[in-house]
Amino acid sequence: MSFDIFPPLEIPETLAAGPGPGNTDARVLQAFARAGVADHMQGDVLRGMIECKQMLREIWGTRNTYTFAVAGTGWSALDTMFAAVMPGDKVVAFNNGTFSGIDTLTLRIKAATSAEHAANPQDPQAASVVVIDVPHGTSVTEEMVEAALTEHKPKWAFMAHWETGSGRINDLRGFSDACERHGAMGLIDAVSSLGVEDFSIDEFPGIAGWASCPQKGLCCLPLTYAPVSFTDSYIDSLKTSGAYTYVHNPLFEARHWGIVEGQDVEKGTYHRTHSGYAVAAFHESLRLTLQEGLAARAAAYRKHEAALRDAVAAMGCDVTSNMTSLVVLNLPGDLAGREMELVQNCRAAGFGIWPTLSQPVQVRIGILNQLTEAAIRDIVARFADAMRDMGATLDQPLIEATLDKHYAEAIAAQ
Ligand SMILES: *Cc1c(COP(=O)(O)O)cnc(C)c1O
Repeated sequence: MSFDIFPPLEIPETLAAGPGPGNTDARVLQAFARAGVADHMQGDVLRGMIECKQMLREIWGTRNTYTFAVAGTGWSALDTMFAAVMPGDKVVAFNNGTFSGIDTLTLRIKAATSAEHAANPQDPQAASVVVIDVPHGTSVTEEMVEAALTEHKPKWAFMAHWETGSGRINDLRGFSDACERHGAMGLIDAVSSLGVEDFSIDEFPGIAGWASCPQKGLCCLPLTYAPVSFTDSYIDSLKTSGAYTYVHNPLFEARHWGIVEGQDVEKGTYHRTHSGYAVAAFHESLRLTLQEGLAARAAAYRKHEAALRDAVAAMGCDVTSNMTSLVVLNLPGDLAGREMELVQNCRAAGFGIWPTLSQPVQVRIGILNQLTEAAIRDIVARFADAMRDMGATLDQPLIEATLDKHYAEAIAAQ
C-alpha cells in the first residue's frame, strides 16, 4: 500500500473579525519567527518568562505573587483556576452564555462526587454546585449575586467578566463586593476582558482567582500563554485541599515562572517543556500592551465599537451586546432568522465573523486588534455587501454619514 503525502498546508489570509481569536499582531508573529533555536531551560528563555510574569502583574494591576501564565488557551488557564475546587465544594456559578455555560460544566466536573460522575459522565450534576441561569443577552448584576450568595453561602462564587457568547459585560464590582460580604472566594473568567478593558485586579479584593487567554485582548498567538492570577487566600486553600492535577496545578506550574513557596526566585525550575518561540511571542504581546497603555487601548475600543454599533444600527440591525470588542446583533425585517446563512457567506469570502454558539442564533462581529478607522470602515463595507447579497436594501448615505460623524468627532476631540 502506498500513501501519497499531502501537499503543504496552505492557509489563506482572512480577516478575523469575530469574538476571538483576533488578528495576531505583526510584532508578535515576528517575535515568534525570529526566536533562535533554544531549549526551555536556556537562560534567555527563563529570563523571558520572569519578565513576562513581571509585565503581567503590571498590566493586570496586581501584587499577587502567583501571577503567571499557563501554556495553552483560555480553557487551560480556567482549568488551572478551577483546580482548587474539590469534590463536594459548595459553588455558586452564573451562566449567561456559551462560555460561562462551559465554565459551569467545568465546575460541576470538579465538584462532582464519584457517584455523580458515574450517573452522568458527560454532564455531571453536582449537588454542591448551584448554577444561576441568567437569560441570554442580559448581564449578571450585583443584586443577583447578593441574593444567591445570601441564600447559598458557598465557598466559591464564579462569573465571567465579559461573556463573549452573548457580548455582555457582567458586574465585576458588584460581584467582588458581594463575595467580600459573604466570605466567598470569587473566581473570574477574564478571557475576553484582559487587554481590552482598563481594570486592576487589586481593586477587586473579593476575587481570589483570575484566568485569561493569549489570543483575544493581548493580540498574541493562540496556544501560547494564558494568564492567571491568584491571591494568597486562594493558594492557602489549594495547599489545604490539594488538586487532582499535575500540569494545571498552580503550585507546580508557578515554579517554572520562578514562584516557589509564595516567593519570587531568580529563575524557574522545570515543570514541563516550554517553547522559547511561544515565550518570545507572549513577551512581545505584553510589551505591546504596556507600550500602548491599557487606558488608551480601552478608550480606542470604546470609540471604534461605538462607530461599528451605530453603523450596523443604520443598516437596521438590532444590537444586544455591550462589550467594547464585540457587537452582537439580530438582522432586520426580511433577513431575520437568516443569521447563520449570512455568517456562512461572509466566512466563505474570508470575512471571519461568527454566529452565537448557543441559542438564539445571532451575528457576532469583533474588532480585536482592528483599532483604526480604515479597519472599521472595511468591516462595515464587507458586512453591508453581505446583507445586500441576501437582498437587503440599505441606506448607504446614512451608513457613511454615521461613520463620518463618529470619526469627525474623534478627530475634533484630539
Ligand atoms: C474565548 C473564551 C473562552 C475560551 O478560550 P479558549 O482560548 O478558546 O480556550 C472562555 N471564556 C470566555 C469568556 C471566552 O471569551
